[in-house]
Amino acid sequence: MSYPTLSGRTAVVTGAASGMGAATARLLAANGARVALLARRTDRLEDLAAKITADGGQALAVTVDVTDQASVDSAAARVREAYGLVDLVVNNAGVMLPNPVDDGRIDEWSRMIDTNLTGALRVIRAFTADLTASAADGRTADLVNISSIGAHLVFPTFAVYSATKAAITQLSAALRSELGPRDVRVTNVEPGLTDTELGSHIDNPLLTEQINGMFAAIPALTAEDIADLIGYTVSRRRDVNLRQLIALPTRQA
Ligand code: NDP
Repeated sequence: MSYPTLSGRTAVVTGAASGMGAATARLLAANGARVALLARRTDRLEDLAAKITADGGQALAVTVDVTDQASVDSAAARVREAYGLVDLVVNNAGVMLPNPVDDGRIDEWSRMIDTNLTGALRVIRAFTADLTASAADGRTADLVNISSIGAHLVFPTFAVYSATKAAITQLSAALRSELGPRDVRVTNVEPGLTDTELGSHIDNPLLTEQINGMFAAIPALTAEDIADLIGYTVSRRRDVNLRQLIALPTRQA
């Protein structure tokens, strides 16, 4: 899709190594934004940056682990050194590790909380000053947080994942009250079933089978569908904040 007002924007997309993050980075770059690609897998980021550049766009691969404060600090410094102030942040990195709560998988709970919630907060901390300064300069400034329909719907074994996403949804709403008055838009996106790598880290074969069954039963959204929604949202005029987007596959109840 074409969103000409994105030309000249400076974006950071976390979780840009795959799925929605990679698709969003491609879309923003194709519409003229400079895009910093953040995730852990450097090879994926460099491949994507090379593709974007070959297509005439601007992209910078920045390796980061959002669970590590020093890593986020140095990534933010690298982005600022290359591109200056950031005016668009897509806070998208996440992991989904379902298991029955009585399995007591503290390792998975910590990883989800550290990535999906504290990681998102680290990224917000790193770039809020950029967003408010950009807005004060009269530019459009956006913080887009990727939550999930899991913030509202309950699924057995997804309790902790859903809790992290409910926290993101509430965080987005709360941040509007702090950032909105300073002309920074905050958008919370809650996708339903989307075909990405997210389910590939599940270590419980029964749950993998269940997820595969859902993908067989429901034509899922694509990462590009979500990227397009984000592109539409952040290309509105600066006084319009689409604050909450829920996008479900038509057949997902
Ligand atoms: P993917 O697994 O394809 O993407 C997740 C991205 O997050 C990867 O690029 C991964 O890259 C990155 N990531 C994971 N951990 C870290 C970390 N510690 N530091 C930095 N980056 C990290 O899945 P999706 O595209 O589906 O996921 C994107 C977001 O969408 C997630 O927040 C997810 O919860 C949410 N979501 C997904 C839905 C779906 O059905 N797919 C539905 C609702 C919400 P790397 O491994 O290289 O670090």
